[in-house]
Amino acid sequence: MEPIEYLVVAAHPDDAEISLGGTLAGLIARGARVGVLDLTDGEPTPHGTIEIRARETSAATAVLGLTWRENLGLPNRRLECNLEARSALASVFRRLRPRVILAHHHRDAHPDHVAASSLTDAARFWAKLSKTDLPGDPWYPPVLLHFFSIHLKAMPAARMVIDVSAHFATKMQALKCYESQLIQGRIPSPSTPLEDIEAMGRAWGVTIRSKYGEPLDSPEELGLSDLSAVR
Ligand SMILES: [Zn+2]
Repeated sequence: MEPIEYLVVAAHPDDAEISLGGTLAGLIARGARVGVLDLTDGEPTPHGTIEIRARETSAATAVLGLTWRENLGLPNRRLECNLEARSALASVFRRLRPRVILAHHHRDAHPDHVAASSLTDAARFWAKLSKTDLPGDPWYPPVLLHFFSIHLKAMPAARMVIDVSAHFATKMQALKCYESQLIQGRIPSPSTPLEDIEAMGRAWGVTIRSKYGEPLDSPEELGLSDLSAVR
């Protein structure tokens, strides 16, 4: 198949939309091939079932207009960076040949997110190996970026902020598909999850003099052709 240029590796269905919905919608609007690999089905949760989560995920996928989305079927709440999971994820990288991988940042309160971050690092390396029983040809995704989730109550140190002002409405529309996770009753709080996500989008937007932003980090140096993209 034609390569997926941008591939999100997310621990749970809804992580990609929460952290990167605006960024992904922006890439898709420009005609990029964008995929999301959810590592687990995200269940159990208080108001979800496997069927409800699958339905919500395909509705959000349609709102964003993703080119590709699959679920790797690894165990939710018990996600581990083990050899079996590494092999499965490396095989996906070899199949899709992404140029940019977007992975969980390792600094996170959710153990599955931390495991997903390590697992993505390891699978990226393994995907380039020759003399292996992995299917397909070797491939090393050249760019690895980290996104931030909402569990750790701290403002992360971001390397860049994407201006998602033109696509924030699409992100919120995609998030509303996840009714069992983001809308139904939760622990008493002064604000709803959607209000919190909107507020964080505004706060990051302020840092780049725009309406809405999404932060990203990079574990490696990033190359720019010139300074015209910097604002
Ligand atoms: Zn998650």
